[in-house]
Parts: sequence; C-alpha cells; structure tokens
Amino acid sequence: MAVSLRSLIESWDGVGVVTWVDGETGTWIFIAIHDDTLGMPSGGTRMKVYPGPAEGLQDAMRLAEGMTRKWAAIDFDFGGGKAVLAIPRRLEPEARRGLLQRYGRLLASLHGSFGTGVDLGTDPEDMLVIGREAPYVHGVDVEAGTSEDPGPYTAHGVVSGIRAAVAHVFGSNDLAGRVIHVQGVGDVGEPVARMLHDAGARLILSDLDTRRAEGLADALGGAETFEPHTAYRVSCDVYAPCAVGATLNDETIPELTCRIVAGSANNQLAEPRHGDALHARDILYAPDYIVNAGGAIALAMMGRGIRDRDRILTRIGGIEDSLGEILSAAAAADESPMHAADRVVEQKLAAARAARGLD
Ligand code: NAD
Repeated sequence: MAVSLRSLIESWDGVGVVTWVDGETGTWIFIAIHDDTLGMPSGGTRMKVYPGPAEGLQDAMRLAEGMTRKWAAIDFDFGGGKAVLAIPRRLEPEARRGLLQRYGRLLASLHGSFGTGVDLGTDPEDMLVIGREAPYVHGVDVEAGTSEDPGPYTAHGVVSGIRAAVAHVFGSNDLAGRVIHVQGVGDVGEPVARMLHDAGARLILSDLDTRRAEGLADALGGAETFEPHTAYRVSCDVYAPCAVGATLNDETIPELTCRIVAGSANNQLAEPRHGDALHARDILYAPDYIVNAGGAIALAMMGRGIRDRDRILTRIGGIEDSLGEILSAAAAADESPMHAADRVVEQKLAAARAARGLD
C-alpha cells in the first residue's frame, strides 16, 4: 500500500490517533479515537500481523468508525474507538505478555480517553493482563481475577439478527431447515453454529483452520464443511461472515448465491458501495454493527453492575426487533439496510451533539 501514515491521519474525520512503537517487539500500536460525543471512546484491541503499519492504522480507523455507530445504535454512552497492535510476527508468550503490559501502561497514561476489550487476536486473559495496568478495560475484575468473554453474547445477538433477516425475507423467523453458512468458527462463530444447530438449521461451516471447522462439524453431527477460499460460492439461505472484514467486495459479491448476509465480522463491506451492490443483487445485507452488538451490550451492562444473565440476554435479543425495524424502513425506501441503519445512527448523534451544544 503506497499510502502513508501521515496522509491517513490527515484525511481522517476522527478525533485523533495515538501512535506508539513498541521497541522490544517492533509492534506498531494505534489507538484510533473516532468520536467522543456520547462518552469515553471504547472498542476492542486487535492483535494481528499486517502487511505494514499503514494497513494496521487503516484497520484501526475503520473499526473505530464502526464502534461510533455501534454504541449510538444500541443507546450506550460510549464513543467510537479501536486499538490495533500490529505485531511483526506471532509473538512467543513472554514477549506477548510484555507487549500487553506496556500497552496497558500506555492506556493508563491516556487517563480514560479510551477504554477497551477483546477483539480478533486477543482474549479475556489478555484483558486481565492489560487491566492490571489500566482501569479502562471492559469486563475485567482485577481483584477477583476474572475477565468476561463477550463471544457467546455476541453470538446470541448474531442469531437474533439472523432471525430478523430470515423473517423479513421468508415471512417467519423459524430457522428449522434453513441452510446457513457460518464462515469462521472461532469465539463467536462456534457458539453461533451451535445455536443455529439447536434451532434446526442445516449448517455449512468454513474456516481457514479447516481442522477447526471439521471438528465442529463432527461434534454437531451432520454439518457440512467447505473449502475456505471458495466458500463464497456456497449455495445457502444465509451467509454468516464470522471471521474477518471486507469479505463483501467486487470479487465475492457476483459469486454469492445466498439470500441474506448476516454475521459478526466487523466491516464486512470492503467499501460502502458494496452495500448497494448487494441490494442490486437482491441480497439482504444486515448491517454488521447492528448484528454484532451483543458483546458490547453485555459488557456495558456488566459495567453498570447488571450481572443477571437472563436480563442481559433479553436486552441482546432486542436486536431482532431493532434490526427488523431497520430492514422494514430500508424496504420501504428501496435501499440497502446499510443506509437505513446509518440514518438512525446519524440522527442519534446529531441529537446528542445538539443537546450538548456542540453544533
Ligand atoms: P476468532 O479469532 O476467535 O475467530 C475467527 C475464526 O475465523 C478463526 O477460527 C479463524 O481461523 C477464522 N478465519 C480467519 N480468517 C478466515 C478466513 N479468511 N476465512 C475463513 N475463516 C477465517 O475471532 P472472533 O472473536 O470469533 O471474531 C470474529 C469476527 O467477529 C471478527 O471480525 C471480530 O471483529 C467480530 N466481532 C467479534 C466480537 C466478539 O465478541 N468476539 C464482537 C463483535 C465483532
């Protein structure tokens, strides 16, 4: 990628970016703070090997924008932010732990300008390491030595979102017999697959780690697996991307043979125009930041002292109704649900800015 870090930062509409290079591991740390209208910018910490630092920064910025929309959509008073630890290679456990501790101290030095949690490449144990250095880690109780895993909560929201989309297209939210392709069976994808299986769906699983997909298929008895690189061609009712972002792009959209896209991955559309491309192909796109908000809802409720699991799951299950409303509004306007969801968010942010006299 020819684009420079400087040009990326200068052309961004966010609040700012904290950049830190960790000398010991050669890791570029980017904390992208997109919007603080609603409260402390908060979003996960992603650890990943990128082709170069610019790709890591770009990922952090796009993910931070998504967090602004997600928090506004679910009515919690946090702003949008995201951190990327762009590691040069997979780190040995000791080096990884040292990096997380130094990252925690960096977070502490920001005095609440950013709060974080789990994302791709990090886990609840990592959050405990960071949380011992900084009090801005969601879902962590340092004294008790516990750290919540948002994955199963996110999965509950994804299944609620799939139900809304299936009801919109097929007239009933019953998943029995629906053919659903779950791409990526990790922290979110695995519980999604298990819940869909329990609801009677016919599953097709794919994962870069083919043994992982095959192991889960065996455990569920009867699920099919598909080779990951051509998985877009799988004929199904629902394609549920639960792995990486940007899987909806110029190459894959013409190959899709599904009626619905609804999954957990952040930033599924490579570019906003791909939402329109799906609409033009009559494929219903359930906006990612609506569908994957379950983990954020759970951690935010726990942060308010609400620990009752049923109450949390009921709130997350509300994604079915809120997505249903967005899909109906989009259908009435004959547009991609992406536009309807973005409009709801923009209205909420505009109202919050006006209330604070920021406009
Ligand atoms: P994870 O790392 O636990 O699992 C991802 C799985 O996808 C792994 O099994 C991996 O092998 C597989 N994978 C990676 N690239 C792939 C590819 N190109 N094709 C097929 N499989 C591939 O991650 P996770 O926590 O389950 O998160 C999955 C997605 O959901 C991410 O995009 C994440 O940002 C998003 N998300 C997660 C949460 C959460 O609570 N964990 C919340 C919101 C959004």
